[in-house]
Amino acid sequence: MTFTVPGPVMDEINGHGEKSYPEEGAGLILGLSEGEHREARQVLPMPNHFDSHKRGRRYRLDPQEILQAEERAEQLGLEVIGVFHSHPDHPSAPSQTDLDWAVPWYVYLITSIEKGAASETRAWRMLEDHSRMVEEILEIKDGDG
Ligand SMILES: [Zn+2]
Repeated sequence: MTFTVPGPVMDEINGHGEKSYPEEGAGLILGLSEGEHREARQVLPMPNHFDSHKRGRRYRLDPQEILQAEERAEQLGLEVIGVFHSHPDHPSAPSQTDLDWAVPWYVYLITSIEKGAASETRAWRMLEDHSRMVEEILEIKDGDG
């Protein structure tokens, strides 16, 4: 599958990861899906509710806030298509915790933040049988083209 993210949306994701450093920053991705293709339209940065001393390696989103985000997405004619989060001084690959919590279909964007600066973002998806996460093709779209 291909996942398209407009440049300004990617800037926002990187910015949230940098702002959250050295903790993990996370949020929801709102967009559209059609067949094998998904496209982000906007992101909703959300508070990391994990225990404060563990936020450098974990994140937790509030289920109530996710429900509100789903309602908001619907009002905009969009849907929640995934989750983005950062890995402070850690590679942009799923951790064991990410594997444990990932649900199929959602796209998971992971941004590595090295010494406070966003370095690399990769997109992942959990297989239907929960066996592993596979990498998606991530396409950054510049301008309005
Ligand atoms: Zn993670």
